[in-house]
Amino acid sequence: MGRVIAVANQKGGVGKTTTAINLASSIAAAEVNTLLVDCDPQSNATSGLGLAKDPDRISTYYLLMGAASAEEALQNTELEQLWIIPSHKNLIGANIELVSADRREFRLRDALAPLRDRFHYIILDCPPALDLLTLNALVAADAVLIPMQAEYFALEGISELLDTIERIRAGLNPDLTIEGVVLTMFDDRTNLAQQVTAEVSRFFGDKLCKTTIPRNVRLAEAPSHGKPVLVYDVRSRGAESYIQLAKEILGHSGVVQEMPSPEPQDEQQVVNAPRWKRWMRERNKLITINIQDR
Ligand code: ATP
Ligand code: MG
Repeated sequence: MGRVIAVANQKGGVGKTTTAINLASSIAAAEVNTLLVDCDPQSNATSGLGLAKDPDRISTYYLLMGAASAEEALQNTELEQLWIIPSHKNLIGANIELVSADRREFRLRDALAPLRDRFHYIILDCPPALDLLTLNALVAADAVLIPMQAEYFALEGISELLDTIERIRAGLNPDLTIEGVVLTMFDDRTNLAQQVTAEVSRFFGDKLCKTTIPRNVRLAEAPSHGKPVLVYDVRSRGAESYIQLAKEILGHSGVVQEMPSPEPQDEQQVVNAPRWKRWMRERNKLITINIQDR
């Protein structure tokens, strides 16, 4: 049974989509079948993986409205083991159209149920609101990953998110847990970042991820090329940090042990493979064999 992780924080611009795209692609790069579901009408995860806007393509909106199956919505990506269910701005209508619908909070959970055996990880990119779309994601998820910027108001609004998680646990999804809190756009040279880290650590204890994501221009550039950062620039600090986060998250569950070992490939294939693919073959070994830091 795959693990469903919602990347959520109602605060805007904290790195949810950057985390969803790059965590999903880093997990997929470790030869783990991974699905990214874009649950945000802004559709940044969709365009960030290079899919053009298309109102006629089957998207998350269709799933929530019961007009198509998740299977029909799957799209391939540049990474062999990463799939996406794209979004479109029409998804904003679902918030209103579902208000009086049956099982309105369970729409995404029900739609994804048939896919849970096919993917080890399903990552949900949430919009910056505690609306019915985020609610659907939190009801569909096993765990929430909260990206947070290490800034003065970082914890402001978090109590609202935690209250929502508590309420969902009390009723709609008793098994929902917190996967972790990940500090994004992090600059450990500043006193402020150190202070905020200490505060977040006091608040969340061991739920604070050991991996922090640095501010890195390659992470900001990659989506405009429609690529995850490990395809755009595998050597960047941004790519390194999301691989590290993927290792940490994979380490939370037993999935690493279950992963198949990479198929042997002949030399010519390796030489012809794109740079990221060769790089990932090396990384796969590191991720599958050695989960510790290099
Ligand atoms: P929204 O709430 O609108 O959905 P979000 O929480 O999904 O936003 P992102 O879209 O991931 O946030 O990031 C906001 C902006 O910051 C984007 O322009 C993104 O490219 C940039 N960004 C995110 N993380 C980093 C980083 N580590 N280094 C540099 N730029 C980053
Ligand atoms: Mg986003």
